[in-house]
Amino acid sequence: MMMKHPLILKITAGGQPQSWLTVHQAAQHLVAGRVAWSFGDTGIILKGGFNKVGLQSSLGIPAILASKSDHARIAHSVPFTRQNLFARDRFTCMYCGNKPSERALTIDHIIPTSRGGRHSWMNTCACCFGCNQRKAALTPEEAGMALLSVPYVPNRYEYMYLRNRYVLTDQMDYLSKGFRNFVA
Ligand SMILES: [Zn+2]
Repeated sequence: MMMKHPLILKITAGGQPQSWLTVHQAAQHLVAGRVAWSFGDTGIILKGGFNKVGLQSSLGIPAILASKSDHARIAHSVPFTRQNLFARDRFTCMYCGNKPSERALTIDHIIPTSRGGRHSWMNTCACCFGCNQRKAALTPEEAGMALLSVPYVPNRYEYMYLRNRYVLTDQMDYLSKGFRNFVA
């Protein structure tokens, strides 16, 4: 298996989760002095150039960094997109529990749109092709198909967690404090 560099969690100075940075982007933030404080250790140390007395600089990459600048400008809501919906449902069909390939996953409107159901977090779920065909324009009750879990609107903490499959322990400790809809 290929070793994967972890992503670095960028949060606002006010403590809101903001985005995932690559190690390289995190290094740029550090070098540019845009980091208010940082926390946690990734074990990654980047070697820089040599200075006049022959000492090579090195830069430790933290697990979490708080940005100095963009504190206020952060969306609290999570965009309702196909990708984010599938991430919320862990790429699992919410009716049969199968995990088909992403291409075979569809969006099911729990109350069908033809019956007035909305295209929203609360009325949609990931659904395999077979279940979607079976359910057609029926409600789960009519189709006799029970949902495996209740739909929810993910918050920013949950969203950040769902977006990264390699969350480090320090990052998890921070993010899990904001979880409302699921247990870490
Ligand atoms: Zn299914």
